[in-house]
Amino acid sequence: MRIRRLKLSGFKSFVEPAELRIEPGLTGVVGPNGCGKSNLLEAIRWVMGESSPKSMRGGGMEDVIFAGTAGRPPRAFAEVVLHAETAQRDDGTRDDLEVVRRIERGAGSAYRVNGRDVRAKDVALIFADAATGAHSPALVSQGRIAAVIAAKPAERRAMLEEAAGIAGLHVRRKDAEQKLRATENNLARLEDIMAGLD
Ligand code: ATP
Repeated sequence: MRIRRLKLSGFKSFVEPAELRIEPGLTGVVGPNGCGKSNLLEAIRWVMGESSPKSMRGGGMEDVIFAGTAGRPPRAFAEVVLHAETAQRDDGTRDDLEVVRRIERGAGSAYRVNGRDVRAKDVALIFADAATGAHSPALVSQGRIAAVIAAKPAERRAMLEEAAGIAGLHVRRKDAEQKLRATENNLARLEDIMAGLD
């Protein structure tokens, strides 16, 4: 899946409608402290179905709505629109995907996919099928980078293994080692019994 465009309105510091085109290749977001770089990454996670206010640096989900400043009143809603292209099929074609999440004060969140009202679960499934989503290791927030740098080698290795999708192999290896030990015990018992029969 390729994210192509992101539109924000009333989302955190993005009080005025803002649109970003994301071109193929590496995208960097630069700007002074507090200009809203992290808010952009949070907008992507939010439209993908993030349901934890804590991971959006807020106390409640409505904290994503522009809260107002000395000169500007708060907004009544926040909306994020994500345009993406699905992965390429064998015949070279892709589908366009438009996901909209909107939250209104006192009314909660609503989602639309390609113009149709859907549930949060449906949105989560679309991104899970594309091996991405609000908790994808591909979305690396600022604190996460510091955590990787400060991590002990063993912790860093665990993070890398999780990102590489091989964390599950450790569980299987442990299972296999247990089975091997049990089989070795059985063989030893068998040898004892055979020795007794001679
Ligand atoms: P830094 O480089 O310091 O990490 P940043 O560019 O990542 O900063 P963000 O953390 O994305 O900046 O943006 C923080 C700004 O967003 C703050 O000025 C904060 O007041 C503003 N902000 C966050 N939530 C809201 C909200 N609900 N309403 C209005 N402004 C908000």
